Amino acid sequence: MTEKFWNKEIETAPRDQIEKLQVQGLKKVIQWALDTPFYGKKLKKSEINSPDDFNCIADLTKLPFTTKDDLRNNFPRGLLAVDMSEVVRIHSSSGTTGIPTVIYFTQDDVNRWSDIVARSIIATGARKGDIFQNMMTYGLFTGGLGLHYGAEKVGMTVIPVSSGNTKRQVQIMKDFQSTVVHATPSYLMHLHSVIEQSGPGLAGLALRKTFVGAEPHSENTRLKIEEMFGIDAYNSYGLSELNGPGVAFECEFKDSMHVWEDAYIVEIIDPATGQQLPAGEEGEVVLTNLIRQATPLIRYRTRDLAYLTNEPCRCGRTHQRLSRITGRTDDMLIINGVNVFPSQIEEIIMQIPEVGTNWQICLDKDGALDKLTVNVEIYSKMFSGDASQIEKLRSRIKEELRASIVINPIVRLHEPGFLPVSEGKAKRVIDNRPKI
Ligand code: AMP
Ligand code: ZN
Repeated sequence: MTEKFWNKEIETAPRDQIEKLQVQGLKKVIQWALDTPFYGKKLKKSEINSPDDFNCIADLTKLPFTTKDDLRNNFPRGLLAVDMSEVVRIHSSSGTTGIPTVIYFTQDDVNRWSDIVARSIIATGARKGDIFQNMMTYGLFTGGLGLHYGAEKVGMTVIPVSSGNTKRQVQIMKDFQSTVVHATPSYLMHLHSVIEQSGPGLAGLALRKTFVGAEPHSENTRLKIEEMFGIDAYNSYGLSELNGPGVAFECEFKDSMHVWEDAYIVEIIDPATGQQLPAGEEGEVVLTNLIRQATPLIRYRTRDLAYLTNEPCRCGRTHQRLSRITGRTDDMLIINGVNVFPSQIEEIIMQIPEVGTNWQICLDKDGALDKLTVNVEIYSKMFSGDASQIEKLRSRIKEELRASIVINPIVRLHEPGFLPVSEGKAKRVIDNRPKI
């Protein structure tokens, strides 16, 4: 199959047709949402008592926003809209406070999600016949399984390697002649340096494309990846609350990411006022999920910053395009693709009695990968005792952090007064990574 589209009718539908689909979709979502304890109350407060109270896309602003805190405060079942026996999949992510968020899927939800991922894959020009090595983490994180199901639907040969073990990844790329890989941009850079060190370089590889996502990266990073491997790299955007990958994806022209608007309603708002902003103006991305019954999500504030373009795309698709994500409205850090809030680190270290009052984290690049260093002041009495006690404490802090944030940090212990003291707001994060 060499078709350019997965679902031509929908991908190239006129704008008024797309809006019609969105209104129909949102009416269904409102019906589902009214069945949940959380939205049951929240929508009624905004005087939305039935799908009939929503009739055109302009009515969207009548609906309230949903935030990550709403998801946390209603953990675990406050947004569940179906009987638990209908749920076939759970994805979950940890957060600032230790209370996770959870997303439930019915079988139909998984099928609809896989369908838009399949559509995304076809838009890049990858297809059945490609050997797809998925280097994104499999598990509660959506990056691995999300692409996996879409790729199988397309008919690609999927190799579910998951992340890490770089030498093995390279061997598998050679053994199975992988043509498409999916990874974070930082991991691809690391992968390249391992390939370089391991001898014959790119000889013996069959790579032609890569999907990159899960973390911010610049156009220059994309170009570098393309040049290093001699392949095409396509930006992929998604977040676990909105299913995961497949929310927006670049087409063959690699000029911003098409948001699949029959599946997601996208808005850009001024994060301070909540007012909608026109195309071309940067603001916070707000998304409504139209394809998931088990956990409806309406006007979700992603905290990602970007802008939209509704200029026609050369590929013929009519769905609006989202720019690269330029930043976030909160202090969430993305370290090698993993989301970390400084408050998670604080919570862990401050539970340890030997820890003093000041701490700071540093982010640097170690080759292509991000490196996290946690500097912690400890009470001076610790320094007067046995040095092995300090080493034990350091290992304990390191281990507790690793278990909580799933990243292996470097931990450095210091005497009180070592770290800078801020007058005002403490500067907890020194981010030395090059700006995108
Ligand atoms: P998660 O819920 O763990 O999948 O993380 C989602 C977050 O990762 C998003 O809200 C973004 O901040 C970030 N992210 C995902 N994809 C991209 C991308 N292509 N470019 C920049 N940031 C991304
Ligand atoms: Zn396009």
